[in-house]
Amino acid sequence: MYNVWENVLAEIKQKVSDGNYSTWFQDTSLISTDNGHIVIGVKNSFHIKQLKVKFSDIIKDALLKNNLEVKVIDFEVQSGSKPRVRTREITASDIARETSIKPRRTTTSSNTPSFNNGLNSKYTIESFVIGSNNDVAYAAARSIIESPGDRYNPFFLYGGPGLGKTHLVQAIGNELVRRNPDYKILYTPISHFYSDFVDAIKSGKGKDFNRKFQKLDCLIIDDFQLIVNKEKSQEEFFNIFNDLYQLNKQIIVTSDRLPSQIKTVDERLATRLTWAGAFDLQLPKFEDKCAILRTKAELMGAEIEPEAIEYIAENVNTNIRDLEGELSTILLMSEVRNLTPLELIKSGSASISHTNSKIRPTSSKQIIERIAKYYNLTVKEMCSKSRVSNIKTARQIAMYILSKELSMSTTKIAAEVGVKDHTTVMHGINKIGSDLKTNFTLRDQLAEIKESIYD
Ligand code: ADP
Ligand code: MG
Repeated sequence: MYNVWENVLAEIKQKVSDGNYSTWFQDTSLISTDNGHIVIGVKNSFHIKQLKVKFSDIIKDALLKNNLEVKVIDFEVQSGSKPRVRTREITASDIARETSIKPRRTTTSSNTPSFNNGLNSKYTIESFVIGSNNDVAYAAARSIIESPGDRYNPFFLYGGPGLGKTHLVQAIGNELVRRNPDYKILYTPISHFYSDFVDAIKSGKGKDFNRKFQKLDCLIIDDFQLIVNKEKSQEEFFNIFNDLYQLNKQIIVTSDRLPSQIKTVDERLATRLTWAGAFDLQLPKFEDKCAILRTKAELMGAEIEPEAIEYIAENVNTNIRDLEGELSTILLMSEVRNLTPLELIKSGSASISHTNSKIRPTSSKQIIERIAKYYNLTVKEMCSKSRVSNIKTARQIAMYILSKELSMSTTKIAAEVGVKDHTTVMHGINKIGSDLKTNFTLRDQLAEIKESIYD
């Protein structure tokens, strides 16, 4: 039976993308085939729905091709691959392990490029959910797919972590290759570019380094902000950039901030990178978050109640990566506990904690102390009526962090930081919230402060 199934899988493998194959078929097996009643063993119940909805025809064809009688196809969660029998409570690290995204293979199938283009087939343009947080960047991406090297060249995409930069630029790459398998693309995080360059120099091939780039139709550089202090690589990148640009080859660069806000980036390069504009990805609003969660659940073949989606959307305020992580955790826990996601949430065992968990044990007093220390102020100074700019900012940061991290009411925060009333607090929180969109120094400061609070 195992041999037959191997043949069936080989047949299926030819029909579906590598990504789909490894996600949905890798861990399947054939349990029985009695009188045309085919029973296929799968990893978990998410897979059943997905296999039924999306792949039943392909599975049936593959079975028939292998001379099996097919009347009904059923799926069963295999005990062998079921979540292990647990004799203890499930811990956060169990869940992290189970839900961690497994590396998938890069784009292959009929569109196999002759070299490793660095693209990951899991990032598709179809699975990128469009919302008010990303619609402008998405429109530019679409335009690049239709006409690369044209209007949006270079395409500079920036935004905070986990907001979809890698997904969108990889999706552009995958779509370009899908449409034209001969199109030569290279996706590389800037850190790889840097280490490849250093290796080339070490082995005496520094001069030839830019050769492989000259043949490209499209170069995608991810996380450009990490170029800081890498002068030689920056120079090399500048040359490659100019060469490709002159040939109208598409250049795509992502970064967590604008080039002008990256220390030590050559001014000429900074200007050129945004010649065709700078496109940003923002934090998703409530509706955007719900749309993303719905799509992700659908892709996983999981059922989840609208109320459960709304609960997650309301409670995850960091980024899309965390949103996705929370969804996976809840789906996994609900499967293990045999509850629907909403039942699980209502039972209280799904309280969303990862964004806040590290900080929760810390009291508001400790947080205020750390923020004051960060700004070289005493608590008394920071929580005074002073309108000196840096003191005021520190105070507003404190309001912002207390609100976001401890979910404290504005009235309570007012009392903690020594301001008149809750409207001042609301103003402070809004001010920081809007400044964070454009002020990357502030973003860095906030990240550093949060880290100091977690310690
Ligand atoms: P960044 O590169 O900005 O740090 P990623 O592209 O790695 O972020 O995105 C983090 C996660 O969120 C990925 O799993 C990605 O697929 C998902 N994601 C981000 N934006 C979207 C979107 N608009 N639609 C669907 N998934 C998204
Ligand atoms: Mg990224």
